[in-house]
Amino acid sequence: MGIFAPGLHDEKHRRAFLEAAARTRFGAVGAPVCGAKTRDGATCKKRPLSGERRCLRHAGPAAAKRYHERLFEAFGRGEITFEAWQEREHRRLANRLPRLWAENPWAPGMTIDLGDLEEKFRGDLALGGVNADALSPAARDRARWRWRRLCCDRRRPVEWAAFLRDELPKRIRRDGPRPPDTDAGTAVAALFRVDAAPPPMSKRRRLDPPRLPATAPKPRLPRVGRAGPTISDERLADLWAEHGATLTRLVGDDGDERTLRWLAGLLARVLDAPEDTDAAGAWRAAVLARRTG
Ligand SMILES: [Zn+2]
Repeated sequence: MGIFAPGLHDEKHRRAFLEAAARTRFGAVGAPVCGAKTRDGATCKKRPLSGERRCLRHAGPAAAKRYHERLFEAFGRGEITFEAWQEREHRRLANRLPRLWAENPWAPGMTIDLGDLEEKFRGDLALGGVNADALSPAARDRARWRWRRLCCDRRRPVEWAAFLRDELPKRIRRDGPRPPDTDAGTAVAALFRVDAAPPPMSKRRRLDPPRLPATAPKPRLPRVGRAGPTISDERLADLWAEHGATLTRLVGDDGDERTLRWLAGLLARVLDAPEDTDAAGAWRAAVLARRTG
C-alpha cells in the first residue's frame, strides 16, 4: 500500500529496520498489544492499529479522525491518488449508514448494489408478498444482503422463506409508515457491488461447504510437560515481569499453570540462546499452535 511507508535511506537502513521490525511482529516476543482494560477486568490482547496504541475496538473516534487526517495529508503529499482518497471517504460514509439507520431507517442510501440481479431480487420479494419500493431503505438493504446470501450465492430457500416470514415483517412493523419528507438528504451509493457472474477468484464461486456438526470437538492443544524444559519460579517471575502480556495472550483464558511454565520455558531458551535454531523453532511452533488452538 505504501501510504505510511517509512522513508528508508539505503539498503543498510532497510535491513536494520526489518531486523527491528521482526522483534515486534505479530506472535513475536515483543509484539505490541492494545492493553485496554476490558469489561471482565482482563487486558485487551488485540494488536494496536498502525500508528495507534489501541486496537480497532478501543482506539475510539479520535483515532478514526487521526486516520482520516493522515490519509488526507498523504493525499496532499501526492502519496495516494484522488480516487483512492475518495474511495476511503466513500467507505467512511457507507460504514456510517447502519448507525444512521438505527435512528432513522428511512434515511436514504444503500450498502450493497445488486446490479443486474436487482430485478430478480425484487421478483423474489414479490413472490413473498413484499413490495420492495414500500420498504424502508434500511430494511431493503438488509433484504438485499439476505437475498444475495440465501438465493444468489447459496441455495437456502428454507432460510429465505424464514426471513420473509419472521424477520422482515418485524422490521416493517418497527420502521412504521414512510415519513412525508424522506427523499431529502443525499443518498450514499453502495459500497459493495454484485455482478451477475462472480469474478474467477470470488468466494461466491465456491459451493456450500458441508457444515460442521454442531458439536465439533475442540482441536487439542499440544501436549504440555514431557518434552518441555523446566523453569524455576524466580526465572518465571522475571519473564512474567517483562513478557507477561505475550505469555497471557498465548496461554489464553483456558490455560493452566503447566501450559504457562511450558511456554515460559521455551521462551527462556530462546532468550538465553538467540542463535539456537532448535529453541527458536520450538518457540515458533508453540506460538503457532497456540494461535490456532
Ligand atoms: Zn483493544
